Amino acid sequence: MKIINPATEEMIKDLPEDDASSLGAKFQLLKGAQRAWQEVNLSERVKRIHRFSEILTNDREQLAAILTQEVGKPIRQSRNEINGAVTRIQWLTANAEKYLNEEWMISDKNPEEKIVYEPLGVIANISAWNYPYLVGINVFVPALLAGNAVMYKPSEMATLTGLEIDKRLKEAGIPGTAFQLAIGAGSVGEYLLQIPFDGYFFTGSYRIGKSVYEKAALKMVPCQCELGGKDPLYVADDVVDIRAAAASTADGAFYNNGQSCCAVERIYVHSKIHDQYIDEFVNVVRTWKIGSPEGNDIYIGPLTRREQLVVLENQVNDAVQKGAVVLTGGKRLKHKGYYFEPTVLVNVTHGMRVMQEESFGPIIGIMRVNNDEEALKWMGDTEYGLTAAVYSGSRERAEGILKKLNVGTGYWNCCDRVSAAVPWSGRQHSGIGATLSHIGLRGFTKTKAFQLKSLD
Ligand code: NAD
Repeated sequence: MKIINPATEEMIKDLPEDDASSLGAKFQLLKGAQRAWQEVNLSERVKRIHRFSEILTNDREQLAAILTQEVGKPIRQSRNEINGAVTRIQWLTANAEKYLNEEWMISDKNPEEKIVYEPLGVIANISAWNYPYLVGINVFVPALLAGNAVMYKPSEMATLTGLEIDKRLKEAGIPGTAFQLAIGAGSVGEYLLQIPFDGYFFTGSYRIGKSVYEKAALKMVPCQCELGGKDPLYVADDVVDIRAAAASTADGAFYNNGQSCCAVERIYVHSKIHDQYIDEFVNVVRTWKIGSPEGNDIYIGPLTRREQLVVLENQVNDAVQKGAVVLTGGKRLKHKGYYFEPTVLVNVTHGMRVMQEESFGPIIGIMRVNNDEEALKWMGDTEYGLTAAVYSGSRERAEGILKKLNVGTGYWNCCDRVSAAVPWSGRQHSGIGATLSHIGLRGFTKTKAFQLKSLD
């Protein structure tokens, strides 16, 4: 498997992929030793995972440089990702004992009754490349804390980071009998679905997630899917500061080059403030520096995958043919690397692909609406359901809209953010199940109810 630097198109490394036989052997190793990991005290497992987060902090510069080289993420955003990962682990370790220890439901009667949260067993974690630390940690950290053994398949586009994660976990005291890597592309993911894991946790596209979910269903084991989105954002006419809203929402659309599952993918603006908002938005976009992601001042680096350039070009062409206007950007850069200019489209309609299909790149369609009802109608016109945001001076107005949308997360005056304290979940084609929060910690367990009658 060739690892390519998306900024230079040069090969960084050539690695051997796993095959059915090596994956089978790794699975047997995990299967044989999972109980031993489960029997390590929860407080000790917490301690080791906490140590892992300290190692990430200590090695941040080195790890950020590898991430940037491999996925093209601007270096400052790579550092941010590692900082975010550490914060996330801190929440999970601080709360693991509260939510994973046994829970007494009736202790003052006979029989006494309690719930015990047992690990699922050996789970497969098939992961994405866009935030390899964050989306990986959503799964393998709570899974390990709960006493599972984990086979972690990093995306083929984030394999070097996967290898670094593996090394740091081992250094922190997670044994190789509790954590193994599966190295390779889609075919390795397919092999994992032929192995009898006790649970499948997938992060990636709807197209692949659906096939993973179908295959896992036949095994009658838990399967969670964190998939894509077409996340809408509405800027209401009572927004407090239009310039600040434009800056915040532009960042929500373009951070990480728009390659975030919860990136803002569609914007609806109240007609009363539409023109001013657009001016401010375009001004912000024009301030960003595009270039080699190693630069500290770079906000837009290359896309991670070459194929996405064509997806973006097709969306722009389709929109322009149907009447959209390109205010800035609209094409790839001519030099080496998978660069695409940050692109703002107005005069868009819902008949355009850019307002329907996940773009997963630096491109946004902005549409004028006349009132909240119209905004709500368009926001809900999607097969996805990850997040939605409303910028407004009124919390009541925003919450009223967010309550009516079929999404896993609603944001008021913020967007494109994930917190470990609340569940991260998608609806419809954005997925099934939840990670993070107490729900995400318990998502890697199966409950056993004890009813204990004393005959004294
Ligand atoms: P992808 O679906 O192409 O790949 C995801 C993983 O599946 C990779 O590890 C890949 O090797 C593996 N895979 C590919 N074919 C497979 C098969 N046939 N069987 C089993 N596994 C297979 O997605 P991606 O390009 O890595 O990630 C981008 C997508 O992920 C976007 O749609 C994005 O929105 C989504 N995403 C969602 C979240 C979330 O939390 N909801 C987070 C990050 C990314």
